[in-house]
Amino acid sequence: MHTDVLVIGSGISGLSYVIKMSERHPDLQIVLLSKRNLLESNTRYAQGGIAVVSDFELDSFEKHVSDTLIAGDGLCNPSVVDFVVREGPARLQELIDWGTSFDQKSDELHLEKEGGHSASRIVHHKDQSGYEIQKSLIAQVRKLKNVTILENHVLVDLITDHHMSQSAFNRCYGAYLISIKDESTIKITAKITVLSTGGGGQVYAHTTNPKGATGDGIGAAYRAKVTINHLQYVQFHPTAFYPKVKGNTFLISEAVRGAGGKLITKSRNRFMSQYDSRAELASRDIVARSIAIELKKSGDECVFLDCTHFTKNDFKKRFPTIYNTCKKAGFNPENQPIPVVPAAHYFCGGVQVDPNSKTSLDGLYAIGECSSTRLHGANRLASNSLLEALVYSHRAVLASYEELSKIDIPSHFFTTIPDWNDAFTVSSKESKLVDSLCKEIQETMSSCVGIFKSSDSLLTAEKKLNTLFNQVVQWYNQNKLTPRLCELRNLVSVSYLIVKQSQQTTENKGVFYNHDNE
Ligand SMILES: Cc1cc2nc3c(=O)[nH]c(=O)nc-3n(C[C@H](O)[C@H](O)[C@H](O)COP(=O)(O)OP(=O)(O)OC[C@H]3O[C@@H](n4cnc5c(N)ncnc54)[C@H](O)[C@@H]3O)c2cc1C
Repeated sequence: MHTDVLVIGSGISGLSYVIKMSERHPDLQIVLLSKRNLLESNTRYAQGGIAVVSDFELDSFEKHVSDTLIAGDGLCNPSVVDFVVREGPARLQELIDWGTSFDQKSDELHLEKEGGHSASRIVHHKDQSGYEIQKSLIAQVRKLKNVTILENHVLVDLITDHHMSQSAFNRCYGAYLISIKDESTIKITAKITVLSTGGGGQVYAHTTNPKGATGDGIGAAYRAKVTINHLQYVQFHPTAFYPKVKGNTFLISEAVRGAGGKLITKSRNRFMSQYDSRAELASRDIVARSIAIELKKSGDECVFLDCTHFTKNDFKKRFPTIYNTCKKAGFNPENQPIPVVPAAHYFCGGVQVDPNSKTSLDGLYAIGECSSTRLHGANRLASNSLLEALVYSHRAVLASYEELSKIDIPSHFFTTIPDWNDAFTVSSKESKLVDSLCKEIQETMSSCVGIFKSSDSLLTAEKKLNTLFNQVVQWYNQNKLTPRLCELRNLVSVSYLIVKQSQQTTENKGVFYNHDNE
C-alpha cells in the first residue's frame, strides 16, 4: 500500500491531525492506523479534562504559563509553554466545532480546578472527558472520504534507509505493520509518517494506562535512530484506586482533590500540609512522593482519599464513573474514604520534536504523548497533555503539508522498498514465555525505577534489562513475529532507555528522584 500520509495511532493527537489534514487537503490520501479499535487509547480514559484559559476575568494566559513552568521545575521550554497556552482557546473551539460537548454552567463552560493550577480552568465532560473527545473525533473521521482506516494493525518498524540496499534520501518512508487477526506483515510506504502512538505506562506493573500503552512509537523511533529524550521523567499519578478493577488500575481523577477530597492515612491523619502549603493541590510529583513516604513510614498498603464531607449526592453527580466503579468494588465514596496508591501515569519525554512536531528524521513527525516537546519539563501540569496533543497536531498539519509540497522523490522509488523479511524464523505458539518476559520487565521497573530511585537500584535494573534484552532479541530472531512480540521488544527497549537516561541525570527535578543525588 502507498499513501501520502500515514498516521500511526488514533488517540486525540492522531484523530485531530487526520481530521484537519483531510478537511484542508481533500486531494491527499491518508491512512490511519490503530492497534485495536479506533476508540481504544489513553485518551479514552482521560477523566479530568483539558487545561485551557477560558475565564479571562479570573484567569489569564500568564497564570497558566506560570503554573506550567512551576510544575515543570525549571526544565520546560518557556517559549513552548507560551505558545501552547495561547493557542489553547482556538484548538478547544475546533474540538467543540467537531462535536465534542463540555459541561456548562449558565451558558459558560464549567471549569474545574486541579493540582498545581492557580485558577479553575479545566474544561471537562463530567469525569469522562476523554471518552467524549474520542467519540466525537471518531464520528468526524468516519465521514472523511480520503482516509483509509486500518484497525487492529500494529506498527512493527519505521521504514528508513536502513531497510534499503543503498542509502537513498535519508528519511522515513512509512512503516511495516502486523495484522492482529492473521499475523500477516504489511508494508505501507508514505511520503509523510506521523507517530501518535501515545505513552508507555505498561513498562510498569502498576499503571493507569491501558494494556496497549507499550511505548511502541518510541521503541520504533529508537530503532530508527531518531532522538529520544527526557524519558527519565515518568509521572506517577498520586491517586490510583488501590484494588485493581478487572486486572487494571483505575484512576481517581485529580479533579476529586480539586473538588475538596482530602488525603488521609489509615489512622486518619491528614498529611499533605506537612509537605506543601498547597496540601492536596500541590503538583503531582510532590503529592505522589509524599504518599510514597507516608506508606514507607507506616508500612500500610494504601492511603485514602476522603470525600465523605461532600454535600450529599455531589460526588455521584460530578464523578459518576468514579462513583460507579468504586461502588462496584465495594466502596461508597459518599460515606467511605477511597483507598488509593500512586501508579505510573504519563511520559513527559519521548521522541524529541521541534515546535512544528518534526523529529530528527525527515518525513517523520511525532505528536501527543509519544513526543517530547519540553512543554512539561520535569513534571506535567495536570490536564496539559490533551492541550499539548491538540496544539502540536495542528502544527504538524501545517508543517507536514509544507514538507509534502517540497518532497521530490520519484514514485517508482517507493516500489523498490523491500517487504518485511521473516526468513529463517519459525511460527511458535509458545506465547507464555513472551508474557512472562513482559511481566519480568514490569516488575523490574516497578521495584528499581519507581518514584524513588538510587544509583544501585538503577544498576540492578540495567543488569536485569540487559539479560532480558538478550532473551528478547534471541526470541525475536528465531520466531515469527507476533503483535505481542512487537510489544515485548518495545517494552524492553523503552525500559532500558528510561534507566540509561535516569543514570545520566544528576539533579533531582520534578518527578525524577534519585536518593544519591541528594
Ligand atoms: C487514566 C488516564 C487519565 C488521564 N486524564 C487526563 C486528563 O484528564 N487530562 C489530560 O490532559 N491528560 C490526561 N491523561 C493523559 C492523556 O490522556 C494522554 O496523554 C493523551 O490522551 C495521549 O493522547 P495520544 O493521542 O498521544 O495517545 P493515545 O490516546 O494513547 O492514543 C495512542 C494511539 O496509538 C495506537 N497505537 C499504540 N501503539 C501502536 C502500534 N504499535 N501500532 C498501531 N497503533 C498503535 C493506540 O491504539 C491508540 O490508538 C490521562 C491518561 C490516563 C491513562
